[in-house]
Amino acid sequence: MSKQNSNLKDFQRIVGENNVLYKEIALRLYSYDAALDRACPTAVLFPENKEQISALVKICYKNKIPFVARGAGTNLCGGTIPLQQAVVIAPTRMNKIISIDPEKKCAVVEPGLPNLFLKKALEPYGLYYAPDPASQKACTIGGNIGTNAGGPHCLKYGVTSHHVRGLEIVLPNGEITELNILQKGYDLVGLMVGSEGTLGIVTQATLNLLTLPAKVETMLVSFPSLEAAIQTVTDIISSGIIPATLEAMDKITVQAVEAFIHAGYPTDAEAVLLIEVDGEEEILEDVKKIRELCKKNLCQEFRLAQNKLEREKLWEGRRGSYPAMARLSPNVLVEDGAVPRNKLPEAHHRIRKIAEENNLNVSLIFHAGDGNLHPQILFDERNLEETKKVKKAGSDMLKVCIDLGGTISGEHGIGMDKKEAMRWLFTQETLELFRRIKQAFDPDNLCNPDKLIPTKDAKEVLFREQKNQKKSSENDLFMPSKKETNPITQTSPTSIVPKDEEEACSFLKNIWLDQKKVLIQGLGNSLKKHSLTPDVLFCTKNLNKILEHDVENFTVTVEAGIKVEDLQKFLCEKRQKILFSSLEKSIGGTLALNLDQTPLLRDQILGIKLALADGHVVQFGAKVMKNVAGYDAGKLLLGSRGSLGVILSVILKTFPLNYPIQAQPNAQKRESVENNIPENMLEIHKKIKNSFDPKGIFYELPLLRS
Ligand SMILES: Cc1cc2nc3c(=O)[nH]c(=O)nc-3n(C[C@H](O)[C@H](O)[C@H](O)COP(=O)(O)OP(=O)(O)OC[C@H]3O[C@@H](n4cnc5c(N)ncnc54)[C@H](O)[C@@H]3O)c2cc1C
Repeated sequence: MSKQNSNLKDFQRIVGENNVLYKEIALRLYSYDAALDRACPTAVLFPENKEQISALVKICYKNKIPFVARGAGTNLCGGTIPLQQAVVIAPTRMNKIISIDPEKKCAVVEPGLPNLFLKKALEPYGLYYAPDPASQKACTIGGNIGTNAGGPHCLKYGVTSHHVRGLEIVLPNGEITELNILQKGYDLVGLMVGSEGTLGIVTQATLNLLTLPAKVETMLVSFPSLEAAIQTVTDIISSGIIPATLEAMDKITVQAVEAFIHAGYPTDAEAVLLIEVDGEEEILEDVKKIRELCKKNLCQEFRLAQNKLEREKLWEGRRGSYPAMARLSPNVLVEDGAVPRNKLPEAHHRIRKIAEENNLNVSLIFHAGDGNLHPQILFDERNLEETKKVKKAGSDMLKVCIDLGGTISGEHGIGMDKKEAMRWLFTQETLELFRRIKQAFDPDNLCNPDKLIPTKDAKEVLFREQKNQKKSSENDLFMPSKKETNPITQTSPTSIVPKDEEEACSFLKNIWLDQKKVLIQGLGNSLKKHSLTPDVLFCTKNLNKILEHDVENFTVTVEAGIKVEDLQKFLCEKRQKILFSSLEKSIGGTLALNLDQTPLLRDQILGIKLALADGHVVQFGAKVMKNVAGYDAGKLLLGSRGSLGVILSVILKTFPLNYPIQAQPNAQKRESVENNIPENMLEIHKKIKNSFDPKGIFYELPLLRS
């Protein structure tokens, strides 16, 4: 029997003959998703429980067979294309809601559950799950977690990563583990969400639920120009109102939608906004204010949906914008850039120019409140010349987003489609770090191989030769025997207080060569308590500048040593604030200790710049509200207690001064019981530590996440 046949027999033994596809005609159906790429799997497997997934993955691990998790296959980035002759593991039959807990406001669900099924099941409880991708009729919770999916309502309520409390995962070696956001150690839930199935297969998820609002008002507003529509978006948010949704469509989209869905959209308008506010009675005041702001920007028509039916019709139009375009030509390339919100008009202008120069039919839809834009390019892939031109134009549009301080994916993911574009966005050092994180989970590169991170370019300089390094025993910070003891023996540390980022990195380069042990200090409050005495005390207190406050975009970029109180005072003068309350700490210290759990700190951070042990700098995130490019590695720093690197600067969301903290999705109090790291994740924690700091230069403050 050939090796392939014997593997098939093994798979059939686990899931049953009927749950394995292997004939070519059937395999072809799994050779594509909603993007353009194609590759046939060697088999498609339909497990019915986590034990079966674990057993299948163990066979793959033993026989070095690549595998790809697949939900509904609606992703728009080639994320489920089975490269390297992978098998597809499709947990679509694992589609149950295991429990709904109205008191704790959470639901436990299987990964194959379609997003809309959950919404419908929650309605009788007066609850809902906020992430609402336009594909929600088909897409699954597992796929949403894989891509960190967003949707119109994510403006006010956040994307998938804001709403996942816990995950059950089958790791690439087949072991089953459980993760939750209150666990000690690194935030692995944060890392898994948006990792596009490259670090493991989700077999169960605990999701955060919200109470259905008492009142909802939906407005359709038309404008004579897209600029006027976007200015209205900026004005609404600056006024302190954060609507549930703020969607924009250009004229081409509106006309296509109207011809297809007859939603009553005004076809003569250059741009249309679909605005929804929700809450209690007071939202009627918001509607009034919004109407005034629309008028100020010379809106043509302001229409308020009079009942649920009218509201549904308006939404049907928005959700149907992709199919409305798709019926006009054989193929549609959907791009997914994000820019700082106030850069949307410029992004629009430059994207239009690219379309005109290439003579392409392009429509634009925007999650305008989030600065997320989707150019939709019509073409016919049978015309190879045209396809080449379309792909190049799509890439040029993404470059525009990067140029404006944005990102190459707000919500659709990277997959194989945008892998090369990752090189434009991230430095080689950051890409290398992503590769090491992937290796920490999946050393044989079997789990959705060749996605998300571009393969190492032959020209890339080797970041760091790790092979011959002796592993220091202090690296074992997460071993239960070590984690609460003081590993430092020396008594008089050298204090280093760099004045800026450059000096910080050059100090670190020397320390790296001297192999000194470093303890990172913010304003020193926590260290006093622990009275540690390392070789080097690396103090960030002079890295205390406000680098940029983008008032219109509601972001602030600060060096990590700035005191929270000083930043709050500065912002208060501009009628803004951050949702931090530990005033005495530095911003970097607050992050490293993961203080301020309510509302969750992890939801307020847009970007982090970090100096690694050898002084090289890596950077995650950007000044944008939505960003799914690459691993969300910044989350690993929350609660890392100085063990991974020196946080140099941070990009934070700011809020209007009058913004009520309760409006945040995670504002409700959580049980703050912390759980221990599962045994089988200790090794992965060590490998993650090693991927940031292979020589074990940085000590970690004892007592993880106290
Ligand atoms: C018409 C249309 C509208 C869309 N609108 C939106 C939108 O508004 N917002 C948005 O964010 N996206 C949107 N999308 C994109 C897409 O629907 C989302 O990316 C969605 O989250 C994919 O879910 P899926 O079940 O189809 O996953 P798939 O496409 O099957 O998989 C997506 C990724 O997740 C991984 N994955 C799947 N299941 C698991 C699992 N159990 N464990 C680990 N990894 C897994 C896969 O390997 C893959 O990398 C739209 C797509 C279409 C076609």
